[in-house]
Amino acid sequence: MISVDDALKTILAGVPVLGTEKVHIIDTLGRVIAEDVISGRNIPPFDNSAMDGYALKAADTTGASPEKPATLKVVADLPAGYTLDRELQAGEAVRIMTGAPVPPGADSVVRVEDTEKRGETVRILVQVKSGKDTRRKGEDVKVGDVVIEKGTRITPAAVGMMSSVGRSMVQVYQRPRVAVLATGDEVVDVDQEAGPGKIYNSNGYTIASQVREAGGLPVMLGIAKDTREDLEAKLKAGLTCDVIISSGGVSVGDFDFVKDVLSSLGSEMKFWKVGMRPGKPLAFGVIGGKPAFGLPGNPVSSMVTFEQFVRPALRKMMGYAALQRPTVNAVLEDDVKKEPSLRFFVRGVVSRVDGKYRVSTTGPQGSGILRSMVIANGLIVLPEGTEGAKAGDTVRVQLFNREFEEE
Ligand code: AMP
Ligand code: MG
Repeated sequence: MISVDDALKTILAGVPVLGTEKVHIIDTLGRVIAEDVISGRNIPPFDNSAMDGYALKAADTTGASPEKPATLKVVADLPAGYTLDRELQAGEAVRIMTGAPVPPGADSVVRVEDTEKRGETVRILVQVKSGKDTRRKGEDVKVGDVVIEKGTRITPAAVGMMSSVGRSMVQVYQRPRVAVLATGDEVVDVDQEAGPGKIYNSNGYTIASQVREAGGLPVMLGIAKDTREDLEAKLKAGLTCDVIISSGGVSVGDFDFVKDVLSSLGSEMKFWKVGMRPGKPLAFGVIGGKPAFGLPGNPVSSMVTFEQFVRPALRKMMGYAALQRPTVNAVLEDDVKKEPSLRFFVRGVVSRVDGKYRVSTTGPQGSGILRSMVIANGLIVLPEGTEGAKAGDTVRVQLFNREFEEE
């Protein structure tokens, strides 16, 4: 038996980082950036007005008030997108729109609400501080600043940032194409008739969705019968992909051929009993340079081993700096017993009460109870060397999402 940590270490060491591709920013949302995006521009590129109003010299408004306004001569009208080559003199104002460059000689803007237009002049009703309502050149970004860091997931704001520094094409990591194979004579596809003794293929669809959630591109290989020939034929079809995942057939049953076939295809398959529950049996190897995972057949075991091993591996391939789910400390609401030799991953429902995380278990933890994964929003991680945890204990929880915090 090997530990979860050692299994993950071995897997990550055997997994390559994929190449990069140049993509237009409109297609980068959710991708991982493969370069530090460095700005060649100041943002804003010039001092500009934060308000519709009048650009002026603050000194011209000293002591101004509604009762004693300062009267200035309006010498120009400056919409956004244009510049003024004339230098503003004492006693002058320029009508200015939001985003227009502050004209030379002006140091501030007074908003239109604090003024009264009188023909060719404007009355300023307030005393203006120097710099008021202007946005300074480079106050957001300076030339040479890293605006997006390599290895991070591109968000809408990041796309906006790249556009604002004038980048239309950027390098992102390629997404792995991931072959997904279900196995078992009892397993039939969802559109087929599930006759006596048969069950629907849930793992194939679950794994494909986990792949997609992680950012990869699933390729469905269907369902292999429990024969060497069919397994070999279907797994071979997966060799055109970057990663191969099968489910089932890795335990010690009479028809568990996945081990044999993976071994015959690959030079360095490793088969482990990993010290965890759920999800003990696991195969990992590299076939023709491509990582191959044999996940257990039980639906929850398959999901949990994907979470612990395949997801971090896919994220490494995609260039992510962070490979693991976020974890939080939460107060446990139930007693949980475990075997000391194993690391337990207990399906949990996390909530936040008075600013503190709490977590309850989803109830029975059988590795076939997929509904518990539907309800769960995290996995309570109970480490090796303990006999469990009690209600009131603080435990680590891997979060699948933070939707429970949404309002
Ligand atoms: P195995 O590891 O092949 O012995 O499978 C363990 C358990 O998982 C058995 O009850 C299988 O019927 C079930 N199982 C295997 N593959 C799938 C699948 N694709 N979808 C749903 N259940 C499965
Ligand atoms: Mg099977």
